[in-house]
Amino acid sequence: MKALMKLKKGEGNVEIENIPEPFPGSEEVKIEVKAAGICGSDIHIYHDDIKIPVKPPVVMGHEFSGIVTEVGKNVTEIKVGDAVTSETAASVCGVCRYCRTGNYNLCPHRLVIGYWINGAFTRYCVVPKERIHKLPKNVDFISAAMYEPLSCCVHGVIELTGVTVGDVVVITGPGAIGLLTLQIAKAEGGRIVMCGTFQDQKRLKLAQELGADVIVDIQKENASEIISDLTGGYGADVVFECSGAPKAANFGLDAVRKQGKYTQIGLLGRPIEVDFEKIAYKEIKLTGSFSQKWTDWELALKLLSQGKIKTKPLVSDILPITRWKEGFKKHEEKTGIKIILTPIE
Ligand SMILES: [Zn+2]
Ligand SMILES: [Zn+2]
Repeated sequence: MKALMKLKKGEGNVEIENIPEPFPGSEEVKIEVKAAGICGSDIHIYHDDIKIPVKPPVVMGHEFSGIVTEVGKNVTEIKVGDAVTSETAASVCGVCRYCRTGNYNLCPHRLVIGYWINGAFTRYCVVPKERIHKLPKNVDFISAAMYEPLSCCVHGVIELTGVTVGDVVVITGPGAIGLLTLQIAKAEGGRIVMCGTFQDQKRLKLAQELGADVIVDIQKENASEIISDLTGGYGADVVFECSGAPKAANFGLDAVRKQGKYTQIGLLGRPIEVDFEKIAYKEIKLTGSFSQKWTDWELALKLLSQGKIKTKPLVSDILPITRWKEGFKKHEEKTGIKIILTPIE
């Protein structure tokens, strides 16, 4: 089968290779991939600048959905023909503090599909049975390919931050993560201010369609003034920084009100300069959010099947795996939002 692989460390070294079909171990499930999304971290794997461990040669792709075609001999709860998606933590230690408390997204021994273990930019992949989630009947494969980023956002917004009805919520970065964060915060009852740049015109418009109450082009408009007007001069109750841009992080620390909450969801990729003292003066409750775990997935499944969140409007392109270069380029140049790759016959 054809597979998009990171072949060795260093810049690039990503190619389509022909590899044998995998077979499931006794506790594993084999999935025929129907749709797999390109994530920002795939671009980082391409450039070899991500801190999550990568072990080439490895099949890339970790945001996917598909149909079960085979199960290991000890798998009883999942059947051939089930429509499913899978979490990305293919291997965790099971004995550390984080594993034992259900926070295995933070396990120091966590190994991830598409980074360390063969992933989903191919026809078949194999995952441990405990990471599988069955798709709700009314969720299609394309929408379901976004359960992974959606679960990451559920983790950041609901599990780690919490929005109270009426909160003014500022989101920086209207990419896929920002647009999912927006819909979750909206579902929680927030009044959403989505901030982007000149480059983001289309994405800002989509943000509006997905429920943003106010959209702000920070290059054209005075975002601080707009937020101040909306909050009686206090500032935002909650800020979700989803862009990973240093300017946005600094803007977020300014935009949040005293005693407000700031959550860093976007990855910056390098140390940046911020005025850390603001956190003290303003008593900001600051947290970060990393990856996802079982409880996030279960909630994400409900939100999508109840129609509280829509992932399909985020899909800008559906391409065969052989056109991966085009997909990666579109992602990097921000001319697409979520680009889906599909396996080749
Ligand atoms: Zn991802
Ligand atoms: Zn562990």
